[in-house]
Amino acid sequence: DVPLFGGGAGNHGSLEVACVLAGDWLSQQGAVAVIFSGSTLEISIQSYLGWAPIGPKFRVTKTHQNWLVKLDDRPANSVYEHYLGIAKSSQFFSDAMDFPLLIWRGYRYVARVPVAVNSDGALQFLGDIKEDEIVRLGYGDVDQMSAYARTAIESIKNFAPDAIYLFICASRRGLLEQEVSGEVVPFESIAPSVGFFTYSEFLSDGHNYEVQNGIHIAVAFREGAPLTPSINNNNSNKTEKTDFFSKRMLRSRQQLTHLLLQLTSDLESANQSLRELSDKDPLTGLFNRRAFAEQLNKETNRQLRHKQSVTIILFDVDNFKKVNDTYGHPAGDHILREISTLAATVVRESDTLARYGGEEFILLMPDSTAETGAVLAERLRKQIESLSFSHSELKLPQNITCSFGVASGFNPDSLIRLADEALYESKRSGRNQVTV
Ligand code: GH3
Ligand code: MG
Ligand code: MG
Repeated sequence: DVPLFGGGAGNHGSLEVACVLAGDWLSQQGAVAVIFSGSTLEISIQSYLGWAPIGPKFRVTKTHQNWLVKLDDRPANSVYEHYLGIAKSSQFFSDAMDFPLLIWRGYRYVARVPVAVNSDGALQFLGDIKEDEIVRLGYGDVDQMSAYARTAIESIKNFAPDAIYLFICASRRGLLEQEVSGEVVPFESIAPSVGFFTYSEFLSDGHNYEVQNGIHIAVAFREGAPLTPSINNNNSNKTEKTDFFSKRMLRSRQQLTHLLLQLTSDLESANQSLRELSDKDPLTGLFNRRAFAEQLNKETNRQLRHKQSVTIILFDVDNFKKVNDTYGHPAGDHILREISTLAATVVRESDTLARYGGEEFILLMPDSTAETGAVLAERLRKQIESLSFSHSELKLPQNITCSFGVASGFNPDSLIRLADEALYESKRSGRNQVTV
């Protein structure tokens, strides 16, 4: 139940020779632990990242221990090769270290720098990456870094420490070059500061222990009550300078980063509208058949890995041709929309509902059994049967019914075929029923 913090030793550009030492002891494979203690000792830890996600999202589809094997079912290194031109080589670590993978974990990004690549294109990491996590490439966002730095400095200043320990990821030094002093000097002017550039950082608040990459950690120590800031802070004009921009190179790099982030977000919103257009059925707003097939492939692959079946429900409006013939096409359209709206309210967030054809709908339920599918289909059947339709300008039929086919399994083609056969069976034995 004590704060734990530290960093890995490393050799810039290779992970081959790194030493730790304590007194006259030295080791290439050891660790040094330092215990800070005292009856009046207070510690305050500030850490920040400041890397921004760029480019597309990828899903982690295969891992093995601390190796990331596949992203989107392709060798993990292909992301680095395709977007950054980084080839498989013994230098992979130093080539890729400015571009960690960023993983969104609940409320913040965690960075992971690949330290090696193998001949299959799997990437090795020092921290964990889990299957099904979504990752993106990241790049140091200097604006964000200096904003975080200002907040951390302000908070440490208020703590009024006697001394500060800094652990700063070596990749920040690579990115900021001489301007990395912006991550050190302001702390030195609050209190005497020591530390080093690290190769993976670790932090624990006494509950959650986590290996990190790319972060800046400042640990402030104080014994006893805080001294008044005016005594402690004898160099206050220097602390204000957390501006990394005095160097032209860094400024233009930040502008290029800005361009990249802007292009990424423009592309994302353009893709989003295109996806809406290509995935959605205009009449009902549901996914169309094409989008459904894509989703079905994705889910069956995923569920196969987890050895859990996928269930689909196919349903078709009964005697719909007669509705059109009797009440007209606009009335038919209205009924299709009403059925879609109703069906959308019974599905879970992880389900996919689509318009499969003219008056045919399909529902995909990941990690479900045929039994749960049948229960849902029966509920939907009853609700549709008791729907009452009304419209100010259209004359509408009442008692509309649907027939259902339910199938469960792993193979997209046979799932569709089985659901179709079950639906046909429902039609054949009198409509308005569910067949599994
Ligand atoms: P069954 O119970 O065997 O399914 O009989 P059915 O009449 O529903 O089946 P059939 O395949 O003979 O007819 C389907 C009808 O659905 C024919 C078509 O005009 C109508 N339809 C398909 N798409 C739309 C649409 O977008 N709007 C309207 N209003 N009707 C549509
Ligand atoms: Mg029909
Ligand atoms: Mg039909």
